[in-house]
Amino acid sequence: MSTLVTYATDNTVAILTVENPPVNALSPGVPEGISAGLKQAIADPAILAVVLIGGGRTFIAGADINEFVKIHSGGGGDLSVILHTISAIENSPKPVVAAIHGTAFGGGLEVAMSCHYRVGVASAQVGQPEVKLGIIPGGEGTQRLPRLAGPAKAAEICAFGEPVQASEAHELGILDEIVDGDLRAGAIAFARRVAGVKPPKTSERAEKLGNSAENEKAFSAVRNAAKKKLRGQTAPLAAIDAVAAATRLPFREGCQAEADLFAQCLSSDQSKGLIHAFFGERAVSKIPGIGKDTPLLPVRKAAVIGAGTMGGGIAMVYANAGIPVLLKETTREALDRGIATITKNYMNSVQRGRFTEAYARERLALITPQLSWDGFDQADIIVEAAFENMALKKEILAAIDKIAKPECILASNTSTLSIDEIASATSRPQSVIGHHFFSPANVMRLLEIVRGKASSNSVIATSMDLAKKLRKVGVLAGNCRGFIGNRMFAPYCRESIFLVEEGNTPESVDAALYEYGMAMGPLAVQDLAGLDVGWRIRKEYKHLETPGARYAELDSLLCEQGHYGQKTGTGFFVYDQNRKASPNGELMAMAADYAAKAGIAARPSTASEIVERCVYALINEGALLLEEGFALRAVDIDIVYLNGYGFPSWRGGPMKYADLVGLRLVLAKIREFEKQFGSAWTPAPLLVRLAESGSTFTQHDKAVS
Ligand code: NAD
Repeated sequence: MSTLVTYATDNTVAILTVENPPVNALSPGVPEGISAGLKQAIADPAILAVVLIGGGRTFIAGADINEFVKIHSGGGGDLSVILHTISAIENSPKPVVAAIHGTAFGGGLEVAMSCHYRVGVASAQVGQPEVKLGIIPGGEGTQRLPRLAGPAKAAEICAFGEPVQASEAHELGILDEIVDGDLRAGAIAFARRVAGVKPPKTSERAEKLGNSAENEKAFSAVRNAAKKKLRGQTAPLAAIDAVAAATRLPFREGCQAEADLFAQCLSSDQSKGLIHAFFGERAVSKIPGIGKDTPLLPVRKAAVIGAGTMGGGIAMVYANAGIPVLLKETTREALDRGIATITKNYMNSVQRGRFTEAYARERLALITPQLSWDGFDQADIIVEAAFENMALKKEILAAIDKIAKPECILASNTSTLSIDEIASATSRPQSVIGHHFFSPANVMRLLEIVRGKASSNSVIATSMDLAKKLRKVGVLAGNCRGFIGNRMFAPYCRESIFLVEEGNTPESVDAALYEYGMAMGPLAVQDLAGLDVGWRIRKEYKHLETPGARYAELDSLLCEQGHYGQKTGTGFFVYDQNRKASPNGELMAMAADYAAKAGIAARPSTASEIVERCVYALINEGALLLEEGFALRAVDIDIVYLNGYGFPSWRGGPMKYADLVGLRLVLAKIREFEKQFGSAWTPAPLLVRLAESGSTFTQHDKAVS
């Protein structure tokens, strides 16, 4: 008997228990184990019914995603064994009851649906989340689910991949019974009741399949919703097509339609991108040289300095994680404003049904607004989020240094300044680190953790661990200007402005990148962040510019006329009271005027050229960062861009996208741009090496970790 599936009996009922911790994934050996157990039960005349249950915390939570990766890389991976097991279960002459606790997702639900009955505890969840990996259910789930839950609901579940709670699953007919109390005992009792009855096959049920007119209406509604909510993604639409096939075709033919669509999705770049992103989130938490045994510092009490846009959001992040937080300001007015914004944000969440009012009040009570340093000597972490000014940050850090307890972590939310210089204001640079949250801090998942040259391993490891507790994705970055995200964002924005200076409208530039999948176009993002931010930085660093090189000017020209973007109502676009953007009628004349003076030739660009200019600028800068060691791996860069910059998850991030396009092609284009636009486009040496040796960023990552 397989060690992954155990066999036991309780009088006339056989119990097959999947024991593949942590989540009982359908890894090689598990489906075989289920089939073997089933065979044994069928062969034993004393057994009249079978229960299939998960050991530990869950039923079968899904397929083993490593198997998909193996198929992607051509290194094996065989999902047909799962299909054999599914058939064996449904064809069993003795009834099989799936007993569900935890989650029955993906392949787990498909196995459960091949069982003749399903019972579950009230806390169980079921679902077909395959679309989150760019694929569709491949274990006949798109064919059985509509037979249990009806085509409309099945299309929705398969297209969006969201979990379904046990109570809803029961109402829909996915679960036959909710078990109160002990699941195993409840499932055995259920199995006894159905023993001897001819087992009903889900594949033979048709009573819920509906009529084609109604189904078409429902599918078209789900299709439209998926196109909006999961813009650009192909798997959700394929999932709906597969469910639709179930309503048109006999079961076996429907399964073939599913298999074809599954194969198409699995071989798509979208699934490669999404699976890369899935594993990437886990990969970034591993820091070479900082082992699991690194002592972590306790973080039970926090303090934040500055209750502005970022400080207020960061205080909410701590409160949401249940960590009490002091919030300090310099004036009563600023403090009141900060707290009013926090309260408004919580109340908006209550209105939208995200939080109950009681929950929001509890979170608010964890935030203590104050003007004094009271309690800062008790804090385990102090996060500085005052204005972006080095002298001020040093003054604040020097003050904290005198008050904070010795093991306190001193974090700065700076987006551009040197962590080493900030740390130099203290007597303990080993305790200083960057915690770069993204705006709005309580919403955006990314936390760039910026390691100074003196930051201790404990402070780094605690920061990475803390990110998870704060429900963020922590990515470690080195201390260079702009760290990972903003350093790459600079050439991306530069190209977007260059394109306008060359006569392309902001509408066409933003539309091209929006179509590519970005959450927002680059020019709209700059208007949102405030054009004055870059303008001020540019003035401060003017002395570092290369004489004779081309720099983006149009944003500075807008600022000189008082147009800072959304906050003044005019920037690359103009905004009405509801912040709705429309074209800025004066911009193109301004651009033409500037281009004439600067000798920039008009150069209308196609949408694909616009994308190449902006995205390849990201990639080239990313490759430089990687080579200089400011990013540990290419996947770290990808995770930064997916979680902090609205890069489409289904493209896997800029570096994965480069791999998928092919580094040789990317390099050839960058070399063309270098000829046309000069040294800003000199290809990163790492990119040249990888492209010329036929390698990829993914392979580079493997070599360094
Ligand atoms: P902000 O102007 O909204 O807020 C700064 C707050 O700090 C103000 O309320 C100010 O009164 C307060 N403050 C100033 N000196 C102080 C002191 N000595 N003690 C206590 N409070 C003090 O600015 P912001 O946008 O929240 O930016 C804060 C920091 O976060 C900056 O370093 C910025 O670069 C960084 N950051 C900003 C963003 C963003 O999108 N706004 C994103 C990431 C990081």
